Amino acid sequence: MILESRSQAALSSVGASGYLTIDLGALRRNYKLLSEMVAPAQTAAVVKANAYGLGADQVAQALYSQGCRHFFVAQFVEAVHLRPNLPPEAQLFVLNGLQPGSEIRCAESRIIPVLNSLEQLQQWAGAARRLKRTLPAVLQFDTGMSRLGVQPKKRAELSASLREFGNVEILFIMSHLASADDAGSEQNGDQLAEMNRIADEFPGFDVCFANSGGIFLGNAFHGVLARSGIALYGGAPTAGVANPMEAVVHLDVAVVQIQAVQAGARIGYSGAHVAEGEMRLATLAAGYADGLLRSLSGRGAVYYDGVRLPIVGRVSMDSMTIDISALPEGTLTLGSFVEVLGPHQTLEDLARDAGTISYEILTGLGQRYHRRYR
Ligand SMILES: *Cc1c(COP(=O)(O)O)cnc(C)c1O
Repeated sequence: MILESRSQAALSSVGASGYLTIDLGALRRNYKLLSEMVAPAQTAAVVKANAYGLGADQVAQALYSQGCRHFFVAQFVEAVHLRPNLPPEAQLFVLNGLQPGSEIRCAESRIIPVLNSLEQLQQWAGAARRLKRTLPAVLQFDTGMSRLGVQPKKRAELSASLREFGNVEILFIMSHLASADDAGSEQNGDQLAEMNRIADEFPGFDVCFANSGGIFLGNAFHGVLARSGIALYGGAPTAGVANPMEAVVHLDVAVVQIQAVQAGARIGYSGAHVAEGEMRLATLAAGYADGLLRSLSGRGAVYYDGVRLPIVGRVSMDSMTIDISALPEGTLTLGSFVEVLGPHQTLEDLARDAGTISYEILTGLGQRYHRRYR
């Protein structure tokens, strides 16, 4: 069912301040498209930060049914929550590495750490010794982002000592691209050359390299396993070109007051907007606490029936005011819903108006919306 075909009355009857609709069919089709692009390499799903705010359990299960078998979160605690909801065949990796003291719990929970240093490799090997078994891991290298992974100057030492760690099975060597969304960036080629040098220094290991943007940089970036996040969720993998992904997230927010004001009326906190003439306003039941960033004050817009309705004045914590003068009087009433994300406004549109990126919009979408999956 598509949201537009629903009567506004039916939406309002539930009494929610907003509806966040997550289209699991579109998510699956995005996974299929990416999988076809990287084949014969495989595609992992990055489901960190609650699958970019969309619900890690629901997203992971939908993608598992689409054939995905590799899942990445960022933090150990995220993995602890997700692991019981994943089938045993699914592999679950923790990008941020091995937290000291978590080794045994990590191993016993069948969570696979991305080891970011020789020290973490030693810790993991220690856990393997204590448990008297071989433990799987991914080994991450820093290819030029200075964030996570083994630094270039530590590689020789690591390479020399790797055979001491026979009880750690390295499933992949990996690295992360810093500028993959910018197809013209020199940094992509630099990082690829470094990754290829690492693959030569550590022969026999499979490479895991591309994120969403990296998938669109070409085969050389694919390795055997790509790690996609934003593109699965409908965000644009590459800046400045048409987005090939299907929208997954729709957000509709309730109208809680309608009024007409005269010239000179001050609108919102600090009177940041003063009406120049008579105007009709609607107050919406969502604000910056719901992820509609305060930087949208006086800049962003929402849509109704395809008509752009600008945000006027400051975005408040729980509400914001829009100018509905462009709609025929009586079009919006209490209980109407307006489109924040949907056919007329993409994640990128909203992110641009807010001065940020689609990732921050998605991960900031608040908990007060009624989430529904279809
Ligand atoms: C977040 C993240 C990804 C996913 O990136 P997208 O751009 O969302 O596809 C992949 N790899 C690592 C290491 C990450 O931190």
